[in-house]
Amino acid sequence: MATNGSSRFFETLVHSSADIALVADPDGTIRYANAAVALFGYTPDDLVGRNLRDFVHPDDQVSGATNVRAALGAGGSALVEWRIKDRDGMWVPVEESLTDLSDNGDVGGLLISIRDIADRRVAEQALVDTQTRLVVALEASRMAVWEIDFSTQEMVVSPNFHEVYGFTPDRLTGTYLDFLHLVHPDDLELLRRTVRVTGQDDVFALDYRICSPEHGVRMLHGRGRRIRDESGQLSRLHGAVIDVTDERRAERRRLEAEQTFRRTIEATSDGFIGVDAAGLIVNWNASAARIFGWTEAEAVGQRIDDLIVPPELRSAHRSGFSKAVADGQTSLFHAGAVELTGLRADGSRFPVEVSVVIVEQEGGLRFNAFVRDVTERKATEALLARQAITDELTNLPNRALLNDRFQRAKERADSGGRLTLLFVDIDHLNVVNDSLGHDLGDQLIREVADRILGVVPATDTVTRFGGDEFVVLTDSLVAARGASGLAEAILQAIARPYDLAGHRMTPAVTIGVAMAEASDARLDELLRDADIAMYRAKAQGRNRFEFFEITMREQAQQRFELANELRQALDGNGLRLYYQPVVSADGTIVSTEALVRWEHPDRGLIHPGDFIPLAEETGLILPLGQWVLETACRQAVAWRRDLAPTLGMAVNMSVRQLSQPDLVGRMESLLGASGLEPGALCLELTESALMEDPVKSAETLGRLRTLGLSLAIDDFGTGYSSLHYLSRLSVQVLKLDRVFIESLDTEANRAIVGSTIQLARALGMTTVAEGVETAEQRAVLIELGCESLQGFLWSKPVPADAFEQLLRHPGDWSR
Ligand code: C2E
Ligand code: CA
Ligand code: CA
Repeated sequence: MATNGSSRFFETLVHSSADIALVADPDGTIRYANAAVALFGYTPDDLVGRNLRDFVHPDDQVSGATNVRAALGAGGSALVEWRIKDRDGMWVPVEESLTDLSDNGDVGGLLISIRDIADRRVAEQALVDTQTRLVVALEASRMAVWEIDFSTQEMVVSPNFHEVYGFTPDRLTGTYLDFLHLVHPDDLELLRRTVRVTGQDDVFALDYRICSPEHGVRMLHGRGRRIRDESGQLSRLHGAVIDVTDERRAERRRLEAEQTFRRTIEATSDGFIGVDAAGLIVNWNASAARIFGWTEAEAVGQRIDDLIVPPELRSAHRSGFSKAVADGQTSLFHAGAVELTGLRADGSRFPVEVSVVIVEQEGGLRFNAFVRDVTERKATEALLARQAITDELTNLPNRALLNDRFQRAKERADSGGRLTLLFVDIDHLNVVNDSLGHDLGDQLIREVADRILGVVPATDTVTRFGGDEFVVLTDSLVAARGASGLAEAILQAIARPYDLAGHRMTPAVTIGVAMAEASDARLDELLRDADIAMYRAKAQGRNRFEFFEITMREQAQQRFELANELRQALDGNGLRLYYQPVVSADGTIVSTEALVRWEHPDRGLIHPGDFIPLAEETGLILPLGQWVLETACRQAVAWRRDLAPTLGMAVNMSVRQLSQPDLVGRMESLLGASGLEPGALCLELTESALMEDPVKSAETLGRLRTLGLSLAIDDFGTGYSSLHYLSRLSVQVLKLDRVFIESLDTEANRAIVGSTIQLARALGMTTVAEGVETAEQRAVLIELGCESLQGFLWSKPVPADAFEQLLRHPGDWSR
């Protein structure tokens, strides 16, 4: 050991050092040990004089300290790791620095400084363990880590790196440039920039694509940190990378789906409202804003019930909502659309249809509601429901509702009670429609409806049955008034004159009444009976009512059969024309009137009075009238050619024929086809037919006149028209009805007939007296100035061949 001052200093230093210090002879004999050997449980005295070999693990002994010394060379030193046996016999790993002391003066040997490295070994083992775990974790997470040293361009990667990048381990030779070859060309620039950019901190993250040799194009997510040297220059990079291809794809799909969803929601005309489990609005689309009047900004964050549920319904809504939250997906809310009352921003309420979808979301349950304003639909539904049972024009119940009312009236009626049904038909509605237009016709219907309603007790039912028909159903007829009282009241109410757009009208209705015991009343039967009674009333002159009688049903049945037979007669040659002469004052036949007869197979000859009304009702009058016209014209042509060149032919026309739209054209072709000179044909129209629609009649007659034929007023005197009015109808002949002729025996009537004849002549008309039966009548009429005469005095209507005889052999009719 050192004896001089400096040796002493070192000795003290060594002695107090925390590291163990030993000095050994070249043969390994320990000469000195410091106090630190206590670390191994020894005292210096335990060791001095012993050989190192006794303490060093046999495997670690290099063949003795001498050899070590030789290895070190003179004055050399070495660092070795030996295991040293402690006092308890345990091997403790140590790091030893060996220094050759041989050139150090008198004393040769080794200085051995020992540091206990057990802790470091543990730490190192821990590090290895950690690294192993890290590698396992990296593999499991499919995350690779790497480090790049920019000074060498070397790239160190985790063992699983090639798996993440998808290539065989030998492909990456270990440089950054090699790695860059893997990166998708389009992302190379991004990667380079991101890696090198100097940012706030040196952490970076990016997504980039690689062209993976095995998996094709993949999307990777990398994160890393830049390491800089003292001058701030980028020296290294290290980081981790993970394949996110599938995640990104899924994410993109989710985003697209969400975007599609959002766009759809925004575009939908339905309101879309998302509500969280707390009842707060989280979604509110444009349609919701339009429907409720709250903007998205106003609505989101509000309680749904406060915003759009009317106050009186809020508590019900809240409890329903809590229940839905509790029930979750199984909530009844799911059950489809429900109709609720919504509240708008302006405080108004309206019907909404709501369908709710309950979904589980991160923040809990989400109630997605589609909301539709169904105000219009409800209104339409209500309208349709009302229309189904209501007549649109009059707002009265319609036919469909009548049945229901009838059943109720039946149930309500006491035993022995009666039900009464009135069938009310507006007279001549078609005339108003044709002449004044359908709008005014509709107005007339409404007016009639109002007037009927005005007199029928409120508990009874007034229905519009069809075009011009109303049905009144009553079970409450007051005894004093009865059904006839009600019918009378209706007639009177309707007869009040009425101003229809400047046209003064006197509307009228015809009523048929039928009654039945409530207990066995049937609606269809009552309707049929009332209808029959109504027809009877019409036949008797309209503007009146008739009670149904059982005989009417038989008659109706007969009429039905008769109509069928008439149709057959028309088709099968069963009709005949009879002719009655019209003579001048001197007894010459000037013309003839064609009068139709029906030769019935069983009942013989039937006179027109018994079937013309039926033909008019059934519409058969049109083909019948056409047949009469054709036959009469043909006959007239023949007689004028063979027997009487100036003979006139008069044909009766019914009102239905007159209102045919193509009447003038028909007449024109008829004249053309028969070759009859128009002036020889005279059409007879009754005064009442013309008065049904005076305006239209005037027009039609004017047009007929342009064809050159002549027109006669038939049955003059039975109606109420003035001669002055008739003169404006371009009529040439006035046929004085038989009632005048019959009454000629009084002076007063003679005066009336005389002045009528004079007036007619003054207005440019000639007069024909009808039904002249006696020579006296003939004499008076001639004296009064009557130009033509017709009647049994000369001849009854006779078949064509008989009439021909009259033409060939005229009797002496001058007296
Ligand atoms: P009308 O046009 O007034 O025809 C005259 C009617 O008076 C005829 O009855 C005729 O037989 C009858 N008559 C003629 N002279 C006398 C007489 O001196 N005394 C009496 N008591 N009666 C006389 P008819 O043929 O039964 O015709 C009845 C009505 O039938 C006609 O009345 C006419 O309105 C209608 N009618 C006849 N044929 C046709 C026709 O082809 N078409 C249309 N639309 N109506 C017709
Ligand atoms: Ca006539
Ligand atoms: Ca007549």
